[in-house]
Amino acid sequence: MNASTVNEAQKVRLLGLDREALGRQCVEWGQKPFRARQLMRWVHQRGVADFDAMTDLAQDFRRVLAERACIEAPAVLADHESADGTRKWLLDVGAGNAVEMVFIPEADRGTLCVSTQAGCAVNCLFCSTGKQGFARNLRADEIVAQVWHAKRSLEQANDARQQSRDSRQQNADARQQNADARVVTNVVFMGMGEPLQNYAATLTALRLLLDDHAYGLSRRRVTVSTSGVVPMIDRLREDCPVALAVSLHAPGDPLRDRLVPLNRKHPLAELMAACRRYLERAPRDFITFEYVMLDGVNDSDAHAEALLACVRDVPCKFNLIPFNPFPNSGLRRSPDQRIRAFARRLVDAGIVTTVRRTRGDDIDAACGQLAGEVQDRTRLREREQRVRFLEKTH
Ligand code: SAH
Ligand code: SF4
Repeated sequence: MNASTVNEAQKVRLLGLDREALGRQCVEWGQKPFRARQLMRWVHQRGVADFDAMTDLAQDFRRVLAERACIEAPAVLADHESADGTRKWLLDVGAGNAVEMVFIPEADRGTLCVSTQAGCAVNCLFCSTGKQGFARNLRADEIVAQVWHAKRSLEQANDARQQSRDSRQQNADARQQNADARVVTNVVFMGMGEPLQNYAATLTALRLLLDDHAYGLSRRRVTVSTSGVVPMIDRLREDCPVALAVSLHAPGDPLRDRLVPLNRKHPLAELMAACRRYLERAPRDFITFEYVMLDGVNDSDAHAEALLACVRDVPCKFNLIPFNPFPNSGLRRSPDQRIRAFARRLVDAGIVTTVRRTRGDDIDAACGQLAGEVQDRTRLREREQRVRFLEKTH
């Protein structure tokens, strides 16, 4: 072994470095800082993991990279596509912990939902991630690796589809081909974990998502969803304002204290004030409020009225999420009719309101079902078996 070779664990994980950090690293390796931009394009835009293939980098530099750096995504434990095109990956983040990410194709966009923690410490009453407890924060490279991996896999799948189409019909309709192409145009931090309780890693990931030499997404196409970590909402506003979704779920403190325990620390009045401050710098002129619809808990007309009063001073849209049940939650989804009536109240008050469609039902890919598995290998195995079973059924 070369004397300057470092062992695998000491290698610099390139997926976790934003442009500034990579520039510093390049200088440390005796390179000009602008090499970072070249390297980023190879890694993030072309999805290349083999340093030898990076032909416009000097051979010496490639050798240093091979010895000192790595481009590695967590191992994929399962990869499933639903009948509606939704795709879900289960990723092994070590020590028996797994996290999930989901890609949701729509006519005009492709949204990737990423995880930021294995488990979550907020422990919302209605959330299966929360019920598993908190294992650990994901590192920046583990968050970015989700986008990196999804982009590569989707491109491979697009190529395969294209080839099979070409072999079937020579003159395929080009427009149809584009409509079928599955591309990540939007990223939402709505998978497992509370992104603003893993701030540093989330920030690095956001910077790479926005960087023109990496994923080049606009701020409006990247959304952080938070249960309301007020001081970190202010930090994000300063450091990297992207679209913000706030998980509200209740119109008053007593109920929200029960549903989202973090509310005891940062009550609604403070949260609403932070939302107003955020809007001064946000790329969109509204906050998206998410509201999970729980039968008999937060879904009455009186709750809707109280909600209107609560958000009175915050320009916003509402996204009503029908509760996705999980075993032993002790909660039920509101009936469709109730959800419609609740939405109607908000719409009548002039608030744009959508009801989230459940996607990927057949592969448990919906919100709050991104359970992953945390520190429990037995359940992980059971789940894999179940996933395999599902695979056979469609
Ligand atoms: N921790 C962040 C982001 C991850 S949760 C947050 O709470 O905002 C993403 C969204 O899924 C949140 O709005 C959350 O409230 C919602 N959610 C969690 N469990 C759910 C369930 N069982 N059914 C429906 N929505 C759920
Ligand atoms: Fe954590 Fe969000 Fe789940 Fe609450 S809803 S426990 S904040 S992941």
